Amino acid sequence: MDVVASLRAQGFRRWYERTLIEAHLWLVTCFLAMILAVALFETHNETLIPAQRLPLLVGAVFCVLGAWAAYRRYFRTLACAEQVGHAAACPGCGTYGRFEIVAASEDDDGGQARITARCRKCGGSWRLSLQNHV
Ligand SMILES: [Zn+2]
Repeated sequence: MDVVASLRAQGFRRWYERTLIEAHLWLVTCFLAMILAVALFETHNETLIPAQRLPLLVGAVFCVLGAWAAYRRYFRTLACAEQVGHAAACPGCGTYGRFEIVAASEDDDGGQARITARCRKCGGSWRLSLQNHV
C-alpha cells in the first residue's frame, strides 16, 4: 500500500507509529541476518570437507546480502516516516499530526508524491511533498 493510501486509511498518528515500528523491525532483521552470517562463517572451518563448507559459505553470503537489503529498507522506511513527520505540523496554528488529506498526486514514475493537507483544528491547508517514498 502506498503512503497516501495508508495515510488516508489509518490517519497520520497511527500511520507514523506503524511505519516507525516497521522500520525498526527491518533494523532487527538486519542485525539477525548479520548474526546468522557471522555464525555461518564461524562454523565454516578447516575440519569440514569442501562439500560441507560450500553451503555454509553460500548461506553466509546470502545472509550478508539479506542484511544489506534489510538495512536499505530500514533506512528508506524511516526516511519516509521522518519526511512526513517533519511536515505534519499545521503552519497556521502549529497543531501536530491532526490533518486530513484533501488531494494527492504522484509523479509518473512514482518517485514523488504531493499531498494537500487540511488541519482538523483550524481548517488551514498546506502542501507536503514526499520524495522516494516507500
Ligand atoms: Zn491548524
